[in-house]
Amino acid sequence: MSYQHIFGPVLSRRLGISLGVDLVTHKICSLDCVYCECGKTTRLTLERGDYVLFDAVKTELDHYWEHNEDPDYITFSGSGEPTLNQDLGRVIAYIKTQKPKIQVAVLTNSTLLTDPNVRQELALADLVVPSLDAVSMAAFLKINRPCKALLLEDMIQGIQTFANKFTGKLWLEIFILPGINDTQEELTALKKIITRIDPEMVQLNTLDRPGTVSTLRPASKEELDRVKEILNMDIIQIIAKVTDKKNMGQHRDMASAILETIHRRPCTRDDLVAVLTADPDQMDTLLATLEADGQIEARQQARGVFYRTVKK
Ligand code: SF4
Repeated sequence: MSYQHIFGPVLSRRLGISLGVDLVTHKICSLDCVYCECGKTTRLTLERGDYVLFDAVKTELDHYWEHNEDPDYITFSGSGEPTLNQDLGRVIAYIKTQKPKIQVAVLTNSTLLTDPNVRQELALADLVVPSLDAVSMAAFLKINRPCKALLLEDMIQGIQTFANKFTGKLWLEIFILPGINDTQEELTALKKIITRIDPEMVQLNTLDRPGTVSTLRPASKEELDRVKEILNMDIIQIIAKVTDKKNMGQHRDMASAILETIHRRPCTRDDLVAVLTADPDQMDTLLATLEADGQIEARQQARGVFYRTVKK
């Protein structure tokens, strides 16, 4: 069966093995972020709908569970805003009934958190990652290019209302674009809002691949460090895949990192590239060397070639 609405799974540092579910079709969203990796929003809307039918997702999940090991997480994300699907709560409830041990994560752009129904549905998840890239109207319009009907202050209030009642984990994600949302003024205002929301963690991200606007550039490690310093809170983490000179030494240890990772759980080459933030060519060379040395072995499985350590 080829899946239309579920993807992966991928191995991530924080979530372990995570299976993705996409509840909207390309490219339905309430924002049209300049950094979006999925391309330009073609249907900009705040209206919830049955963009992907519950039964279609259920069929794919049932098939996946029947033929694969359970992932650690099922994560709602993909090519648009998952809360736009009116059946989000129904799908989460279905997963929780069928597979209570699998954790559910939802990555949301926060725009629909103004809606009490959406907040109620998201409350069923174990982890919610709302985005908040800007707290000034100017930066919000420049970065997120929202649906006209959306008011930034309402959206912020929606995140806060949800966060104050939510009993699961809440990680706030902020996408840093140099020169737009990293001014002292913006960050000082952002810090006040973060304090109001009181998330468990704040994740700083930046461009990894080209966004929809070609002139954008990612924040450097130094720029992200500066943002972290200005926000000055223990809960801030940089999750962007940036390297600095200090990290260069880590590459020498990549072979050990590969061995440690696959010793715990066999991985594909792409899993390893993602989880170790490695250069794909370097990964191919190291895997070939470790295999020739007899330290690891490759096995073909349904999701691709998996590498595991050789027991001696
Ligand atoms: S909210 Fe997410 S999917 Fe929507 S435009 Fe922004 S980055 Fe893309």
